[in-house]
Amino acid sequence: MNCKNCGAEVGNEYRLCPYCRSELEYPTNNSQPPIIINNVMNNQNTNRNTNINYNHAHRNVISSKSKSTTLLLCLLGFIGLGGLHRFYVGKATSGIIYFLTMGGFLFGTIYDLTKITSDTFTDSNGLPIKK
Ligand SMILES: [Zn+2]
Repeated sequence: MNCKNCGAEVGNEYRLCPYCRSELEYPTNNSQPPIIINNVMNNQNTNRNTNINYNHAHRNVISSKSKSTTLLLCLLGFIGLGGLHRFYVGKATSGIIYFLTMGGFLFGTIYDLTKITSDTFTDSNGLPIKK
């Protein structure tokens, strides 16, 4: 494009004319925010790929916590002692909430029970409890 002030040919990367220092008005200014959004999206894609690679590399890693112990502690939620299984696997914060709400009024206990029995319940490191 050309500078409106001095008419010099100026590259698109300049905000001020390098010759006369006047501010350049780009007709394509409106297209700049989408470019920024694209960059953010690219960054998210990069992060997502990193996570996929991380999961792939650790796919066979499982928790050292015992499944039967986790299951037993979870079942105590049905007699009013909710969340002990969450303390056991290191999820103390939600364990406290479960304990104070009697396992999320049993819904949380039942939900965790289905996760434990299907080997998809995870410890505080995100590792599945399977053995
Ligand atoms: Zn100029």
